[in-house]
Amino acid sequence: MTGQILQKNFSFSVTFAFFRWYSRRETKIFPAVLSYLSSVKEVGSMKTCMYLRKSRAEDLSDSTGDTLRRHRETLEETARAMQLTICGVYEEVVSGEDLYARPEMLRLLRDVKDGVCEAVLCMDIDRLGRGTMSQQGVILETFKEAGVRIITPQKTYDLRDEMDEDYTELQTFFARKELKLIKKRMRRGVERTAADGGYLANAPYGYEKTRAGRLPTLKIREDEAAYVRQMFLSYANGEGTPAIAAFLNACGAHPRRSEAFTRGAVMNILRNPVYTGTVIWNRRRFLRSGGQSPGCRKIENNREQWVVTHGKHPAIVTQELFDRVQARMRARSKPSGTGRELVNPFAGLIRCANCGGLMQLRPRANRPGGYLLCERAGCCPSCDFSDAADTLRNALRPLLRRIPIQPAAPDPCDQKREYLLLKAEKRLRTQEGRLCTLLESGIYSPALYEERRRILLAQREKLSEQLCRLPAAPDNPQRTKDFTAEDALDGASPAEENRLWRLLVRSILCRSERGPDGHHVSFEIQLRCSPDV
Ligand SMILES: [Zn+2]
Repeated sequence: MTGQILQKNFSFSVTFAFFRWYSRRETKIFPAVLSYLSSVKEVGSMKTCMYLRKSRAEDLSDSTGDTLRRHRETLEETARAMQLTICGVYEEVVSGEDLYARPEMLRLLRDVKDGVCEAVLCMDIDRLGRGTMSQQGVILETFKEAGVRIITPQKTYDLRDEMDEDYTELQTFFARKELKLIKKRMRRGVERTAADGGYLANAPYGYEKTRAGRLPTLKIREDEAAYVRQMFLSYANGEGTPAIAAFLNACGAHPRRSEAFTRGAVMNILRNPVYTGTVIWNRRRFLRSGGQSPGCRKIENNREQWVVTHGKHPAIVTQELFDRVQARMRARSKPSGTGRELVNPFAGLIRCANCGGLMQLRPRANRPGGYLLCERAGCCPSCDFSDAADTLRNALRPLLRRIPIQPAAPDPCDQKREYLLLKAEKRLRTQEGRLCTLLESGIYSPALYEERRRILLAQREKLSEQLCRLPAAPDNPQRTKDFTAEDALDGASPAEENRLWRLLVRSILCRSERGPDGHHVSFEIQLRCSPDV
């Protein structure tokens, strides 16, 4: 800060020296002085944006609010001393260095481009970005192009000045190195904590954070832990997760991050080994999706990569009860995901009209067929799946009928192969005829004739076998013109049908109501393309 002011004062004192010298000598230096003066851009009263950020990867000992407040005070002091006009404050806490995960930085870059400010005030040049080289390049290039200066309490940078640019790049290079080091140190710290039985993540339901000496760990929250025990006991005694969720909600239990317990929330608790006093670390990792869209993808690590330790925190349920619950869960679970064949041709399309959630096909306990159920317990009554599928198919069929389809032309390669095979067969037949002539004219002995005939026969058999394997040509060419997309439904598997519906339909809203006069189910179909295709 003082450096900046000294620098400014110095340039002005130089100017005054010029003036004094000029007024004494009256040389022709006046135009030069004028141009010099106009090039000295006064830093004070510059329209400035303030950028503050705190990374989760630093100052573990310090709380986020403290750091940001301290930084803000320093910057405000700098702004006052340099007489900057603050025209916007951008403040964020970032957990990664990815530019696209830093909404405030993106907003700042947009504003810089739009010419909102002439300078950006920040704690350190590396506060602007320590991400990848290319992303840092994006940030610095945007500042440079807009002619926006970077002001820190230590120094002001003008990126259009080559020296300043070099210096900035060098500094960001070291910042990246430092970040790498911090990350490594953090990871080691987390690993050690987990190995010592400490717990670093957010406290799960039933627990709250505490410290055992220096080690972060958990302690039981008795009000919530009672519900956790209830969940394990009820499930082990044969109750289903929806019933458990409904019971908990009726008791007035509140999960931490949502309004009410759902089937899924109960399931997550029942599966979490933390309740037996175990700590599992490195269970999953997060992939940040590239590009502009924010968001993470969770990936479950292999079991060999997990670090499982005996935690320092007390257990809420016994290992024996936990094992019983897991055993019952395994017995009831149906294979899911990629290994299973799709059953519901409308999978991913039918949504609950009440809450907008996806309706799921669930099997009936003791009868064939299934029913569609909204994921939110008690949101809307379920409806029979095969009735729903029939209704939807009947509603959509006329649309498919209006889409004419040209069946794929026969493969020219197959046609050529067929031609060659037929030709070979013809040649064999001529050879067979010639065999008889050779026998009759006494050139072949009967034994030789038999052997030759057997070889030819075997060859012919092989040929006809290959002919059979060729795909059949369309046997009725004039039928082609009446093919429609509806024909694709014949004999289509649910997965194939699903692909068809997904192309045609955007979503299907299912309204299911149980009134005094019976159960009413209605659907509202939103198409992807217009109905008169
Ligand atoms: Zn619903």
